[in-house]
Formats: sequence, C-alpha cells, structure tokens
Amino acid sequence: MNAGQRKPFVGGNWKMNGTRSEGIDLARGVIGTTGEAAGAVDIAVFPAFPYLGDVGGAIAGSGLVLGAQDVYHQEKGAFTGEVSAGMLVDCGVAAVLAGHSERRHVIGEDDRTVNKKVVATLEAGMVSVLCVGETLEQREGGQTDEVNERQTRLGLGGVSEDGLDRVVIAYEPVWAIGTGKTATPEDAQDAHAKIRGVVAELYGEKAAGGIRIIYGGSMKPGNAEALMAMPDIDGGLIGGASLVAEDFGAIIKAGAAVTR
Ligand code: PEP
Repeated sequence: MNAGQRKPFVGGNWKMNGTRSEGIDLARGVIGTTGEAAGAVDIAVFPAFPYLGDVGGAIAGSGLVLGAQDVYHQEKGAFTGEVSAGMLVDCGVAAVLAGHSERRHVIGEDDRTVNKKVVATLEAGMVSVLCVGETLEQREGGQTDEVNERQTRLGLGGVSEDGLDRVVIAYEPVWAIGTGKTATPEDAQDAHAKIRGVVAELYGEKAAGGIRIIYGGSMKPGNAEALMAMPDIDGGLIGGASLVAEDFGAIIKAGAAVTR
C-alpha cells in the first residue's frame, strides 16, 4: 500500500489552552474552513478534558473526531484525578493520544505506562495515537532510530494485528515540538520509513503498509504540504497551529491535496 491509499490523519492537539467558549468557537471555525477537504482527511481535535462535552457538541454531525489528550489504563476505582477509557467513550471520544512528548518528558511517563494507555484505548474501541520521537540530545548522540524503534516496539506491546488497525503512530521529534523548528521533509521521511520498517518486523509488510504514520513538530500551513507529500508521511499532529482555525484548515487542505 502506498501513501496515496492511506487516508491522511490530521489531529489538533489543543493541549492546556483556551476557554470553554474559545474551544467551541475554534471547533466551529475548523468545520467552517475545511470545506471539501474534510472528506479526504480524517480530522480529529483533542481539547482538554473539561471541554470534551462542549466541543463534542460543537462538532456533532460534522465528521470531525473528538479526541482526548490522555487516559488512565484502569477501568475504574480509587485513582483520584484519573479518567478511564470507558469514561472517554461515554463522552463521545473516539481517539486518544499516548506517549506525547510532554507526557513523557514533563510529566515523566515511561514506555510501560504509555503501552498500558495504548492497550486500554484500543480495548475500549477507540483509536490510539502513539507518539514517539527523540530529544535533541538523543538526536545529536545519533540515537534517533534506536529511540523511535524502542518507543514503537514497547508502545505496541501486546497489541494484536486487529488492534493495530486502530493505531496511528505520530513521529514527533521532541526538539521540534512548540519550538518553530521543523524536521526537513527528508529527515522526517527517513524516520517514518524506519518506523514503518519496525512495524513490518512486528506485524508484516501488509500491516506496515496500512498503518498511518503522521508527523508532529511545528507543522504549519507553510510546510505541511512538503512534509505530507513524502511517501511515508500520512498526516500531522499539530499543536500551536491547530489553535488558529484558518491555519489548521490550511494544513487539512494540504493533506487533502497530497492524496489527489
Ligand atoms: C504537538 O504538541 O504534538 C505538536 C506537534 O506541537 P507543535 O505543532 O506546536 O510543535
């Protein structure tokens, strides 16, 4: 399967930003700016937990997917402050991030924790967006491929081939997130192809050809098309630029353009 047969996935990670009404306005703005591109691209927005219901209401019937930024792997019980996969499904969530660099490097989640979140998300029937990527230090130390391989292998631990159908991998070099620095399309392509190779070793060529591997790290309207035109880059996970409806819409349109 080549890139043209993998439907692009573009997600907006809103992080801990905005108010309830700004989230609703942003969601409506995204719907208003995407136009025909919406059919060609899977679009997801990931608001903060408290606004899931309101943003879910704003995107109802639009085809946009409601995403959550985190999940706890246990079903229920004495886990103060945590939110289960079942609760997210109950709120209309259909996709969940796991292993985002801020969860790994600011909050301190390790590969084992990330894997539990992937598994819990898939068991609840949702899409898991597994984020992997090297820090600047690791890149400068020549460890990019090793880090991506480890995070991919451990993140997918225990995931069946059926489950893999609902996994999207986001390659997000940590040094590019929120910094304005972007991997070159060639460097990103190289990392994506190697991650796809790891999936091929684990699940076979067919499964590897079907999985979407998206890029994250200062993707914006000006660089989105060049990145997504690369054969192994199947969309984007967008932070800063997803907070401006027109910019996020332009990235979605770039995703639609490369599929034609
Ligand atoms: C992200 O948070 O996943 C991200 C890619 O952020 P930004 O686009 O701001 O670099």
